[in-house]
Amino acid sequence: MNANDIHTAAVLGAGTMGHGIAQVLAMTGIETRLFDVDAAAVDRGVEAIGNNLQKAVELGKLTADQCDDALANLSGGNVMSSAIDGVQLVVEAVPERLELKQQIFEELGQRLRSNVLLATNTSSLPITKIAEVTQAPDRVVGMHFFNPVHRMKLVEVVKTPLSSDEAVACAMDLARRMGKEPILVKDSPGFASSRLGLVIGLEAMRMVESGVASAEDIDKAMTLGYGFPMGPLKLTDLVGLDVRLSIAEYLKDELGPGFEPPAILREKVARGELGKKSGKGFYDYSE
Ligand code: NAD
Repeated sequence: MNANDIHTAAVLGAGTMGHGIAQVLAMTGIETRLFDVDAAAVDRGVEAIGNNLQKAVELGKLTADQCDDALANLSGGNVMSSAIDGVQLVVEAVPERLELKQQIFEELGQRLRSNVLLATNTSSLPITKIAEVTQAPDRVVGMHFFNPVHRMKLVEVVKTPLSSDEAVACAMDLARRMGKEPILVKDSPGFASSRLGLVIGLEAMRMVESGVASAEDIDKAMTLGYGFPMGPLKLTDLVGLDVRLSIAEYLKDELGPGFEPPAILREKVARGELGKKSGKGFYDYSE
């Protein structure tokens, strides 16, 4: 198992993350098959990739030839057996439900040869539990990409106690081959990014709650004082308050009361103030 030997890949799930991962794989020169159970989602994913690449050409970030090459590497479909036939890599990006991911990995373990790297893009689920159900848990790793995939440099490569060193090295090298910067993380709740990002986000909410400063000024403290590209409250609005609440509840159960969601977060979610997507969160987007 070697990243340079990956010539053909399947991406399972053509939603927000799946189509982004497929785009970057195709741009890396890997023949990429985007699979989704929903044929309309495949069409939307392929169309979104085409639009992204076209925009990159217009902005001068990609040549027309590079765009054509990437598109030639890409195909979409809703038949799983065709998508995974003969691949050296599968990246799973289906909805965040443990049973669904387990069912898919069990099938992949049965159908694919032992030299195929199996990666999940889960943002929070225990990857060891996903790996356990496959016939070959040693080749299962996490590859946690960030949204939007074509712009965000980080990939968290998550190693379970069952992952082989070879599979982990392959995932790290593959991330680099895709132009990303990988970090290696042990399979633990919230990995490195969500766990640390949430601590700052929850504390910023508690500070708004107790009147330490306004949301704008707390965000300014972190952008101007600490060089964050975006303040923790603005980021919460972008991610979605409901999403952050469910991750906080999960991490509180797994890691302890430090992740207890503040009342202000629960109240805002109950009022439907979910952030940018609903027009209001810690900021008002109605204008
Ligand atoms: P999404 O809802 O946008 O897309 C999921 C897609 O999977 C849908 O198109 C759905 O039709 C498809 N699907 C459902 N069952 C399937 C199956 N059995 N086989 C193939 N496809 C199937 O979800 P998303 O936001 O892209 O998230 C996907 C994964 O990535 C989740 O595990 C999520 O936690 C993780 N993630 C999301 C983000 C983010 O910002 N959205 C960031 C990092 C990681």
